[in-house]
Amino acid sequence: MTTSVTIDSVTKRFGDTTAVDAVSFDIAKGEFFTLLGSSGCGKTTLLRMIAGFMRQTSGHIRFGGKIIDHVPPHQRNTGMVFQNYAIFPHLTVFDNIAYGLRARRRGKAQIEREVRRMLDLVRLGHLAHRRPRELSGGQQQRVVLARAMVIQPDVLLMDEPLSNLDTEMRMHLRSEIRSLQRQVGVTTIYVTHDQEEALLMSDRIAVMSRGRVEQLDVPHRIYSEPQTLFVAGFIGENNLLPGTVLRREADGGAIIELAGGGRLRGASTTTGDGRACIVSIRPQDIDIADASNGTEPSLAGTVGDIQFLGGAVKLMVDIGADKPLTVALPGRRDMAMPTLGSPLRLRVPAHAVRTFQPEAGA
Ligand code: ATP
Repeated sequence: MTTSVTIDSVTKRFGDTTAVDAVSFDIAKGEFFTLLGSSGCGKTTLLRMIAGFMRQTSGHIRFGGKIIDHVPPHQRNTGMVFQNYAIFPHLTVFDNIAYGLRARRRGKAQIEREVRRMLDLVRLGHLAHRRPRELSGGQQQRVVLARAMVIQPDVLLMDEPLSNLDTEMRMHLRSEIRSLQRQVGVTTIYVTHDQEEALLMSDRIAVMSRGRVEQLDVPHRIYSEPQTLFVAGFIGENNLLPGTVLRREADGGAIIELAGGGRLRGASTTTGDGRACIVSIRPQDIDIADASNGTEPSLAGTVGDIQFLGGAVKLMVDIGADKPLTVALPGRRDMAMPTLGSPLRLRVPAHAVRTFQPEAGA
């Protein structure tokens, strides 16, 4: 039976290195939960502790409220799909998938039924008698998935399962894994460094950095409401510019001056008056201001570079700061294409302007 998972103040130290630092969160039954972070942030170490391959230095791990710290890996009933998948080269697709059921001494008829069901789910029924070397990389990975799911694990653990595949296969398998997971309803913990994969697949994401969880939330809030400078820089393309909060206003908003002299209004800030901050603005939140509307607050700049990307047009706008401001405009047929070197005014809505303390996560 699939189960909830609780990580309770889990720390793992290797000598002087704290790989996982007092991490706590709950994963709901049936949830697709992703640990996202760059190399060395501790995500694999955390997953290996959940699998039972490694024991935490302190803290507890619970499955369905029960502490499993002392339970060896093979008794945790987890399905595992790891980077260097090991399917048995000498066994057919059918026998690879049946392996876990045979190890659990299930009856022949039950094995036949359950393996067939999995083969249908991963759409490999017609290849049941092939051997792994006769399959594509993506088909092999579907065998690994089927093999992990057929035992009806309490928790499915996946560590970068798509990293060895080409882009097309990776795209395809992302949605396939997600829809399979929804059908089966198994609690899944997925490790990746690929933010796009995390945003696309997950119910919730824990963004990790230096052994800690920086932010834990649903994908759209991780993207649109980053809580730390690290998350603002790590997830999606962003402009991160040094600035100063000139003054805060009664409604919680603030007037912010960017390095280079341009001024903006932000809807909220926790930075005090006169204090330095890092201003974050998504490129697609910036618009070209309406020249006929002289009262509209706007930022002056010069077009330094234009990148035509088909669906979008990116402008690198010099606003007098160390680095240009990236502006992404939708590539509409009727858009008036700015010209290189021309001056323009940019409109930045206050709700799109976020501020962070320079030292946080820097
Ligand atoms: P990657 O994506 O590169 O696998 P990761 O985010 O999964 O990275 P971990 O493998 O969990 O990171 O490593 C976290 C930290 O712990 C790193 O600094 C790593 O060097 C260290 N570490 C991991 N395993 C060991 C070990 N067995 N002995 C010593 N240090 C280790």
